Amino acid sequence: MKIHEYIAKDIFKEEGISVPQNKMVVNPEEAKMAASEIGKPVVIKSQILVGGRGKAGGIKFADNPDEAYTKASEILGSTVKDERVEMVLVEEKLEIISEYYLSIVLDRSAKKPLIMASMSGGIDIEDVARDTPEEIIKYYLNPLNEFLPYQGREIAIKMGVPNSQITNVGSIVCKLFNVFEKYDATIAEINPLVVTTNGIMAADAKLDIDDDALYRQKCLVDLEKVTKGEFAYVKLDGNIAVIGNGAGLTLSGMDMLKLYGGKPATFLDIGGGSSQENIVKALNIVISDPDVKTVFLNVLGGITRADDVARGVLDVLNASKRRIPLVIRLTGTNEEEGQRILKEAGVPYETSMEAAAKKAVELCKDIT
Ligand code: GDP
Ligand code: MN
Repeated sequence: MKIHEYIAKDIFKEEGISVPQNKMVVNPEEAKMAASEIGKPVVIKSQILVGGRGKAGGIKFADNPDEAYTKASEILGSTVKDERVEMVLVEEKLEIISEYYLSIVLDRSAKKPLIMASMSGGIDIEDVARDTPEEIIKYYLNPLNEFLPYQGREIAIKMGVPNSQITNVGSIVCKLFNVFEKYDATIAEINPLVVTTNGIMAADAKLDIDDDALYRQKCLVDLEKVTKGEFAYVKLDGNIAVIGNGAGLTLSGMDMLKLYGGKPATFLDIGGGSSQENIVKALNIVISDPDVKTVFLNVLGGITRADDVARGVLDVLNASKRRIPLVIRLTGTNEEEGQRILKEAGVPYETSMEAAAKKAVELCKDIT
């Protein structure tokens, strides 16, 4: 099953790979808003499952919010490579110095994961593969051995990256391999992996999940069904509701909860650029679920502002009749203000996901 770029990027980010600031939107008004929140020139990228969007006109640049509106309205509803575009990713435009290629595929005939990497990445990688295949290095992994950091660096060295980038590129290789394993991928690819003045980051993200493993990647399957910018909500069989902003963050909140012995009752991703109303909507969904005994709200503010989250939480606490233990992890944009609001109202919060997950598990034990 192919995963859309915006979800794949969220997962990459959660595993520690830098990605440009972005937001998925479904209409031109939202694109304009996202561009002004980002506050820089942006790239408007059609969210379709086929590659080669750049060459097919599925990627456009906009210097300001008005232009983002125009470009998004041109792409949304159009057909790119036989796929109708229903969503676009509005993403901070990068100052690209160079473009690398990095991919991990499951080589079924060799029965091993294969890492391919090159300093000649970008939209012409197929030409590179055909005309100058020696520019793409291949590195097979033994599926029975752990992948070690030195192997990541070895790949970076073989690629020929400058000495100053070896550690960084090496660690990105390791992180991409973590994604590959954790999500049962058959392909995890970054093309281009870009060198910018602000570091090295994934400008594109491709992830394909092994269809035979979908039964254990339930949340990803449901996330893929959510195509309308509404939040992704999956009911699970535990008793602690997990709410997060961003697919990757929500998934790792669930992992953390399970690590401390908790059982998630929901997977609820309120999305990357969520508003106060979204927090209210999400909390009301889980509070009205009798199976939910505790709520674990995991927010890392980016475009979503921590003070909006805090206000949303108070709105719900003030209006709701049901008293349900709530653990909030609140950090990021406007965190001082958000934390101050919670403190004043006597609502406890944590700043680390670990502490919050642990506390949610403890609180839930006390009730049941
Ligand atoms: P694909 O064509 O479907 O693989 O889409 P990509 O996300 O890889 O984008 C295609 C090309 O657009 C990249 O290889 C880059 O050259 C260019 N591109 C994408 N994002 C940016 C950006 O933020 N800044 C600049 N300057 N170019 C970008
Ligand atoms: Mn690409």
